[in-house]
Amino acid sequence: MTPFTVRLRFHGDLPFFVRSKREVVERSLKERTSVKDTIEACGVPHTEVDLILANHQPVNLSHVITSKTEIEVFPVTGNAITSFQHNRLQLAHIRTFVADGHLGKLVRDLRLLGIDVLYDRTAEDRQLVETAAGQNRALLTRDRHLLMHSAVRHGYYLRSQNPLRQTVEVLRRFDLAPALAPFSRCLKCNAPLEPAEKQEIIGQLEPLTKIYYHQFRRCPDCGQVYWSGSHFAKLEARIAAIHDGLQEEA
Ligand SMILES: [Zn+2]
Repeated sequence: MTPFTVRLRFHGDLPFFVRSKREVVERSLKERTSVKDTIEACGVPHTEVDLILANHQPVNLSHVITSKTEIEVFPVTGNAITSFQHNRLQLAHIRTFVADGHLGKLVRDLRLLGIDVLYDRTAEDRQLVETAAGQNRALLTRDRHLLMHSAVRHGYYLRSQNPLRQTVEVLRRFDLAPALAPFSRCLKCNAPLEPAEKQEIIGQLEPLTKIYYHQFRRCPDCGQVYWSGSHFAKLEARIAAIHDGLQEEA
């Protein structure tokens, strides 16, 4: 096959992923190549791509390039383009997640807000990919190569290393504000909490808690008991900080 040139233009914040950080990349191909592989060879995971135009026509990720082509690649958020709504590659409204092992603080924030996030500090890459694919969860990670697995349908690469900023990023990317239910989920194991009668859990309480608190929730999976004690004010302050982050301009 005669080598041919593919010219890719990355829109929005996608040049962040490109090795040269440039908006336009030219590649010489010697064989038929899928558009997914061509884009990912530039460093951009397919989970960050919402729309691809090949010579001005929308295509999906498995589209095969066989000759000189101009490719336009658009991100999920901060997208100026409003046409081709039926050719979008990502779902905006995913409500369940799996996070990779380095994101404990982000996971705690999201669970505090009631978001369903599976997390195992010791999970290996293969398990993360299987959980994301098998349960249709979006994979949250700072490992872009993990997001390039074709089994991963949905995912998000966290731009920030700061847990609070990361939480705001996830809420924005997946439009989670309408789905928030603070204090409804176990911070340790992700299970939805249930109301508990004081009599049932009184054996687990410290003497002063027994006296001063009357409303309790319990995790049906791990047994952890929650009440609005001194730690509650810290958690409320955390939620307020996340809310402030959401109000700021992106
Ligand atoms: Zn629990």
